[in-house]
Amino acid sequence: MTDNPFFTPSELPYGLPPFALVKEEHYLPAFERGMTDQLREVREIIENPEAPTFANTIEALERSGRVLHRTVVVFSTLSASDATDGIRDIETQISPRLTQHADSIRLNRSLYARIKQITTDDAEEAWLLEKYRVDFVRSGADLSEADQGRLRELNEELTKLSTTFTQNLLAASTDSALVVEDVKLLDGLSESAIKAIEKDGSYVLALFNHTNHPVLAELTDRETRRRLYELSTGRAPENFELAARMATLRAERAALLGYPSHAAYSVADQTAKTTEAVEEMLGKLVGPAVANARREAEALSEEAGFPIEPWDWSFYAERVRKARYDFDGADLRPYFELDRVLRDGVFHAAGELYGVVFSERDDLAGYHPDVRVFEVFEADGSPLGLFLFDPYARPTKRGGAWMNALVDQSHLLGTRPVVMNNLNITKPAEGPTLLTFDEVNTAFHEFGHALHGLFSDVRFPRVSGTAVPRDFVEYPSQVNEMWATWPSILANFARHHETGEPVPAELLEKMRAAEKFNQGFATVEYLAATLLDWSWHKLAAGETVEDAEAFENAALERNGIAFELVRPRYRTNYFAHIFFSGVGGYSAGYYSYIWSEVLDAESVDWFKENGGLERGNGDHFRSTLLSVGGSRDVMDAFRDFRGSDPRIEPLLKRRGLLVP
Ligand SMILES: [Zn+2]
Repeated sequence: MTDNPFFTPSELPYGLPPFALVKEEHYLPAFERGMTDQLREVREIIENPEAPTFANTIEALERSGRVLHRTVVVFSTLSASDATDGIRDIETQISPRLTQHADSIRLNRSLYARIKQITTDDAEEAWLLEKYRVDFVRSGADLSEADQGRLRELNEELTKLSTTFTQNLLAASTDSALVVEDVKLLDGLSESAIKAIEKDGSYVLALFNHTNHPVLAELTDRETRRRLYELSTGRAPENFELAARMATLRAERAALLGYPSHAAYSVADQTAKTTEAVEEMLGKLVGPAVANARREAEALSEEAGFPIEPWDWSFYAERVRKARYDFDGADLRPYFELDRVLRDGVFHAAGELYGVVFSERDDLAGYHPDVRVFEVFEADGSPLGLFLFDPYARPTKRGGAWMNALVDQSHLLGTRPVVMNNLNITKPAEGPTLLTFDEVNTAFHEFGHALHGLFSDVRFPRVSGTAVPRDFVEYPSQVNEMWATWPSILANFARHHETGEPVPAELLEKMRAAEKFNQGFATVEYLAATLLDWSWHKLAAGETVEDAEAFENAALERNGIAFELVRPRYRTNYFAHIFFSGVGGYSAGYYSYIWSEVLDAESVDWFKENGGLERGNGDHFRSTLLSVGGSRDVMDAFRDFRGSDPRIEPLLKRRGLLVP
């Protein structure tokens, strides 16, 4: 096993993981070695006869566990983006072990006792020290032996349940796919879309991981729409029971740690801090959003000539969009070719704002032939980091879009950032990849996270890049979406893939006018999922839920968001964001998107007030906010950027929720 690529640091540029050398049999030995090494390192820290200092304790912890870290990064990347059966088997075996390992450090009393004795005058060190202290307390370091024992059991069971939940879901996306024999039932889909889903004479529509499949907007056959919608909302029914069990266990864990609910525990170290703060904000949004959606529903039923059902919404929304705004989303697709969107849109905007330059590195590879690697340079030519891009959907990839870091920037470790974006764009059977506007927007969004990682300029890996509170992390990525429709950026990337003609100005005008339409739907769909997440995690210790579907309905009803035509964006059975407990889990955190959007709407206003797309503005955003990562209080960083506290009005205005 001397040739295990995880045992030594990568020799590739920027420490890019050597994906080509990694074989499945390397993982388990690397996990084992990584955990053993780190436990030894922790023991050495504890047994150090010198008095505890920041350097000999916190810095030493920051440096520890490098083999494990390298292994976890590569493994979790593959488990999200290309989870073969082999990877899934290893995941089932290793997840509980990793939870035990993390607990054995965070529940270590001697280590915690050392941390409590440390003092420092340096602001960045003091901030990190406090973070460690809070991490230990929140992990149970202050609990009695008996309570710690129970906590370990809870953590292990939760990890197992969440692995099963996620795996059920991945399997369901193909197992519960809609199989259509008669091509006539797919009327409305383009020829190339039909070709891409043909399989041995049948047509297979795999499920996307949210309630409304994108083709619901196109399928003219109502019965096909209904079948697809019902398969989608009813997938992985065994997950209802797992979710209820997880919610109960999380409530028990929160009580052990001194909180009335998992939600209270979860927001305590966020920028929201209290459940009341979250509920106050949601309370301002629900009523106007539902009223908006009801008005939209009336318009849709009028267009349809009958009272619509949930599976009709997207289809008639497209029709109304066409009728009222003379705008068809499909007309834009030929102007949104993937490579052009990336280079002349996403990269170009970053160049204008921050001066950065991108160069594709064909000599470097990801874990799959479709992954592209770009080197990123500062305006003065100095190297900044690597950006990996994996745009296409595949059966082994989980749903949605996301950013993750393969190497965290850190001055302590001497590392530059390596970050990646995953999207889930359907790969065409042939010809260019043409995107919807939503997909274009997602590409800009995810790249906003990538910039947060790439511009990180901090000492310690624990607070590098996107390691900020969860209810803050969506904010920079949402801000980056504003450039997708910025006139000079759009003009630069939106060109016809065959003729090179720019997108006609009147089409853009129509798109802008039509953008406001269906906001009621989007907001209700999101808020319903948010309140569902919230309700599951407001359970008190000892509360159990027998019938998870009934609980779901009651929760929506109680919160005033039960609108039969707009179901939650995720129902309990496929709400992977909240029933996945690994890094990136959003339990009691789905509110974060709209919480962050308050900051986003304020920031968009700031850019507009200050001349928009200008290098000076980009540099200000970068230096005050993006570069500091989580190395200081992020709300202080926000105030440095904006010059004031955030207000909710810009968000209400944007979402059409200002009550007249
Ligand atoms: Zn995001």
